[in-house]
Formats: sequence, C-alpha cells, structure tokens
Amino acid sequence: MTVVQPSKIVCVGRNYAAHARELGNEVPKQPLLFLKPSSSLIGPDEAIVIPRASQQVEYESEIGVVIGRRARKVSAADAMDFVRGFTCANDVTARDLQKSDGQWGRAKGFDTFCPVGPQVAEGVDWTTLEVIGRLNGSERQRGSVRDMIFPIPVLIEYISGIMTLEAGDLILTGTPEGVGKLAPGDLVEVEIPGVGILRNTVRGDGAP
Ligand code: MG
Repeated sequence: MTVVQPSKIVCVGRNYAAHARELGNEVPKQPLLFLKPSSSLIGPDEAIVIPRASQQVEYESEIGVVIGRRARKVSAADAMDFVRGFTCANDVTARDLQKSDGQWGRAKGFDTFCPVGPQVAEGVDWTTLEVIGRLNGSERQRGSVRDMIFPIPVLIEYISGIMTLEAGDLILTGTPEGVGKLAPGDLVEVEIPGVGILRNTVRGDGAP
C-alpha cells in the first residue's frame, strides 16, 4: 500500500528550465503532460526494478501534489483549495526508450517506476517547497517551486481544464536538473524538507 491510491498520476515534463536544457529540449510554452499508470506505484523502501528492455533508467526527483477533492475546471486562484497535501515522488524514466519510442507510455510506465511517500504532508506552505535528489548519499538535484516554469496553481488550472481530478489523484510537477542513471544496488532518495525523505533501492529484473 502506498500513501496514495490515485485514479491517475498526471505528470508534467520540462517544468524547470535548467532540466529542459540538460536534455537538449526547448522550454515549453504550455505545460507538457503525460500519465503514469497507477500500477507503477511503490512505497518507501521498496525496490525500483530495472527492466531488461532498458539500458538507461534514470531517477527524477519531484514534488508530488495530492488532490483532496474533485477538481474540474478550477481557476489558479482557487486551485490550492483542492489540494490535500504534498509527497515526495520519483518519476523513474527509461531515458533510452523515451527517446526511441517518441511516445512516453513505456518509458515512464514500468512497474515500480513511481515511488511515492513516505507520507502526505498537510498544512505545509507550498510556496517554500524544495526538492532534493540524492544517489548513494550524494546530492544530485536541488530545486524549488520558485524555479518552476508553471507554478502549482497554474498546473492545477491547466490539468483540471482537460481532465477531472479526483480525490487522491497525484500530480508530479517536474524535475530539476541533475537527473542520472540508476544501477542495481543503488540507493536513491527524494527529500522535500518539511514533508519527508523517500528512499528506494534499485535492483535488476530477475534478481530476488
Ligand atoms: Mg518527470
């Protein structure tokens, strides 16, 4: 069981300018959305499994927004009234398959590719949130909501204008620069100060 049981996981690509540039992409003019399946969810201390189909699985440390009640066509001004809280999330990505497929469903959708937790923090001041990514104890990523191209209320307005957000749905708000490759035996951490630290191990497919 994970701390959330979303009907859908809506993700935002390239929401930090420096990360868009590190992958050689333009900064988007409107939010770039994709979905991860709820079957990709795992909790803290569970293993991310590197599928045999990929040679380049990468971590993406992200701020997760947990929706508190049904949101449909809400304005940015009202958007935060529909949020229950925040959680740490890792948008694990098979970078090689993302590039070769064009579509991202496979690259983002493998089982274990959406670690979340350890809790949903309520009542935090979202305007000060930061996210830190560590690989085997060394810091690789650090980002702030202040660096987002599209702020969280704008994302909720945009997404809820397309698809109804249900209570428990999860929005992954994009990753800052510093993404990198995972290997079996790694320990990957996503920390949001005031929210918690999400730790996951990494293993290959077929290992016990
Ligand atoms: Mg991402």
